[in-house]
Amino acid sequence: QSRLLFPLMALMRVGLDVQTSGALFARIFEYLDLRPRVTDKPDAITVEQAPGPLGLVEFRDVSFRYPDAADDSRPTLDGVSFRIEPGQFAAFVGPSGAGKTTVSYLVPRFYDAESGTVSFAGADVRDLTQDSLVSHIGIVSQETSLFHASIAENLRYAKPDATDEELQAAAIAANIHQTIVSFPDGYDTIVGERGYRLSGGEKQRIAIARVLLKDPAVLVLDEATSALDSISERVVQHALEAASAGRTTIAIAHRLSTVVDADVILVVDAGRIVERGAHADLISHGGIYARMHAEQRTGAV
Ligand code: ADP
Ligand code: MG
Repeated sequence: QSRLLFPLMALMRVGLDVQTSGALFARIFEYLDLRPRVTDKPDAITVEQAPGPLGLVEFRDVSFRYPDAADDSRPTLDGVSFRIEPGQFAAFVGPSGAGKTTVSYLVPRFYDAESGTVSFAGADVRDLTQDSLVSHIGIVSQETSLFHASIAENLRYAKPDATDEELQAAAIAANIHQTIVSFPDGYDTIVGERGYRLSGGEKQRIAIARVLLKDPAVLVLDEATSALDSISERVVQHALEAASAGRTTIAIAHRLSTVVDADVILVVDAGRIVERGAHADLISHGGIYARMHAEQRTGAV
């Protein structure tokens, strides 16, 4: 385990005070569920001390540009506002490059907004300690990388003191327990680079089990099934539904069939929210969403 972990930790330390936007760092942060540390204010509070309910996420007129963007470039996010109530399922859809993943990066404060306010549990994220903020957010993204370590160790990354029973319960809920026990060494099977080779769907379900162990108030699903074939997509989709039950979920979806039941659908285009509402309303509105939906149904996309 230490073979891979220590160089990564060293890299992390080097990056701690730097707002790095490179793809390498983005990947590392995603899979370690860590982030470049923006500095906490001296009087920063924890999420528990915030005035609003856990699971409330709000953007108020947020504009954002990546640190390496030219000053005169068009902002990546341009006046984005929305409010997701605790336990709601919000889906972000829209063309590739629209800014959906960027929205998800601002919630755990991987970056600070250029203007406007991102708030979590009713507090500006800049007033929260980042450790506390990140501890309440779980992310499952397109592809999961696992440590070169046992499955149990990969799961315990989310909760070091988890009991074997807790690991199992999370794996059962993520629909991966049966698969794990069929492996030669069960939960002790070494995975990751040079380890036992898992399919994309198996890795995603381990990532979901990890998030269930973490039990965050807010779950971010960034095209979590887009790299899968349609059979494992269905299995993973079921596990994701289990994971999102009872917690605020921000789902970035490439397949519109998965967002039909969302409490709210936000359509993002060129850094702006151009339509919002429930599925039926957006269909009858006959705008971009309705067009995207029709295209996917006819298989044009
Ligand atoms: P989506 O998730 O909707 O496909 P993204 O949020 O990933 O879109 O990207 C929005 C825009 O920001 C794109 O133009 C993309 O090239 C740019 N972008 C994404 N990540 C970075 C980064 N780390 N540094 C600079 N620009 C980025
Ligand atoms: Mg994206």
